[in-house]
Amino acid sequence: MKKIVVIGGVAGGMSFATRYRRLNQTDEITIFEKGPFVSFANCGLPYYISGEIDSRDKLLVAKDTMLMDRFNLIIKQNHEVVKIDPNNKQVIVKNDGVESTYPYDKLVISTGAKPIIPQVKGMDTIPYFTLRNIPDLDYIMNYIHMNNPKKVAIIGAGFIGLEVAENLKKLGLDVSIIERANQVLTPLDFEMSQFAKLELENNGIDVYTSKDLLEIRDNKLIFDDLELHADFIISSIGVVPESGLAVQAGIEVGMRNGIKVDEYFETSVKDIYAVGDAIIVKNFITNEDTLIPLASPANRQGRQLADILNGLDVKYQGTLGTSIVRLFDQTFASTGLNEKQLVNKDYEVIHLLANDHAGYYPGATSINLKVIFDPKTQKILGAQAVGKKGVDKRIDIIATAIKSGLKVTELQELEFTYAPPFGIAKDIVNLAGYVSQNVILGLSKTVQWHQVDALIEEGAFFVDVRNSSEVRSLGKIKGALNIPIDELRSRLDEIPKDKKIVLYCQSGTRSYNAEQILRPLGYDCYNLDGSYSIYLRMHRKSIEFNCQKTFFDSSFGMTFEFPKNKGSIPNNK
Ligand SMILES: Cc1cc2nc3c(=O)[nH]c(=O)nc-3n(C[C@H](O)[C@H](O)[C@H](O)COP(=O)(O)OP(=O)(O)OC[C@H]3O[C@@H](n4cnc5c(N)ncnc54)[C@H](O)[C@@H]3O)c2cc1C
Repeated sequence: MKKIVVIGGVAGGMSFATRYRRLNQTDEITIFEKGPFVSFANCGLPYYISGEIDSRDKLLVAKDTMLMDRFNLIIKQNHEVVKIDPNNKQVIVKNDGVESTYPYDKLVISTGAKPIIPQVKGMDTIPYFTLRNIPDLDYIMNYIHMNNPKKVAIIGAGFIGLEVAENLKKLGLDVSIIERANQVLTPLDFEMSQFAKLELENNGIDVYTSKDLLEIRDNKLIFDDLELHADFIISSIGVVPESGLAVQAGIEVGMRNGIKVDEYFETSVKDIYAVGDAIIVKNFITNEDTLIPLASPANRQGRQLADILNGLDVKYQGTLGTSIVRLFDQTFASTGLNEKQLVNKDYEVIHLLANDHAGYYPGATSINLKVIFDPKTQKILGAQAVGKKGVDKRIDIIATAIKSGLKVTELQELEFTYAPPFGIAKDIVNLAGYVSQNVILGLSKTVQWHQVDALIEEGAFFVDVRNSSEVRSLGKIKGALNIPIDELRSRLDEIPKDKKIVLYCQSGTRSYNAEQILRPLGYDCYNLDGSYSIYLRMHRKSIEFNCQKTFFDSSFGMTFEFPKNKGSIPNNK
């Protein structure tokens, strides 16, 4: 009988332990967890704040008694492993101030990742919290109930920060989010993240990006050009591997002290393994080292390590980083690489806009999908999506396609369930296959939203092929000539042949058709990828606008407000 010792009793650790037991009924499995709970739902914590998850008990996914009875695990809560002694193959554990040693044959580290605390002058002068576990949640809830605070500042606009922001807002607090980067949700690219910023703002949350917190004084958060009052702070500026034990034991670590493991999860020290947020994984697409602290990979790694230690032919394939977050009525999801991770690499981008199900069937809402691919190999590099419904399904399909090695053009071959309440005969994922094929074949030449200003400067001629009613209600790109697509053939004399022509509509479909009309006639024409639906959210300075100041986009269920940037609305009424 072997002694299996696990450090950390939540996602990776408990997945490992239960799978190991299913495969092996004789070895002794002991789990040391420094906190009071094992197998709790970290991911559910933010939703308890607002009461959306209405009982704290529901956060305890599997009770320790059940785990002991059903899986014959020895569970030691409130036991912190303070040292690993690899030479004597034992761990030193502290409980109630008393230290004891436990021997192991195989040791599994699943200690997770810990929140980074901002190093800012005056941080100790304001109540601040992080959210990692149930005691953290209790501190936050107790503070709110005892002090009845009005204003909270969330520092850091990643998944956890934004989920906490939403739930504190729903609880009735005045919420501000402050982020050092120029966007929220950095797994998304800038233009896709703007939908998240808008959704937060539309729900009454103040969002400040590109802001570096300099100091905290008298409950004031001081930035170089801004001061904000807050009763308390939630810090969510990211996490780093909790790997102090490993470092001290001489186990090799890499980026941000993440534990280095091989594809069988073995560390540099024999018989010591590690899984979950504490380890460095290989990015599935680039095969480069990376840290991806997410629940699904942690659970998978735990299970796979149990398989490996029981002789099954399994090895880790790498992590894609598929992730999702709901903010109020919108969902934001991504998989694979984003453009920021592809600097100096050869790639193409396509943006698509389509309904989640047939437009004529009640309740259809829009999905904005971005797909990034290598035009030479047709390898799918990443995808991001925003919308009210169906975003999870589309990103999950593309994540599956990436892991299966499908080429981007092969997305058109995928066959989905279809009836009007559920989807569209040409699903947006199929459309991504069609559009990428057009780009790869050169049937469509695209320009991106961030190239528009430069194109205007260099004298490109913009043609807006939407209906005039759309232009009236949504505005248009500065200087663009509006020729509705169905009038294009009869108004060719208005389009110069000696200039670069940039065509756009709302989603890019009509402008693609316009491109097919103009190119054979000798025009040097390009389709604005993502068209006006993306451009509108990005480059409001170059928008001519002579309608109402805000408008409600029913397909997104979002209100868009025209330029907050002063003086940039020439014809604003
Ligand atoms: C608020 C919140 C929301 C999240 N939401 C999502 C989400 O929606 N989707 C998603 O994919 N991921 C989400 N995550 C991330 C996800 O929870 C983690 O990726 C996952 O739990 C990592 O599993 P792990 O086993 O590596 O670490 P954990 O699950 O964090 O478990 C590590 C455990 O080890 C214990 N430990 C550490 N050191 C010691 C020691 N020396 N001795 C004994 N015990 C020790 C810790 O107390 C901890 O309980 C969220 C995380 C948080 C905090």
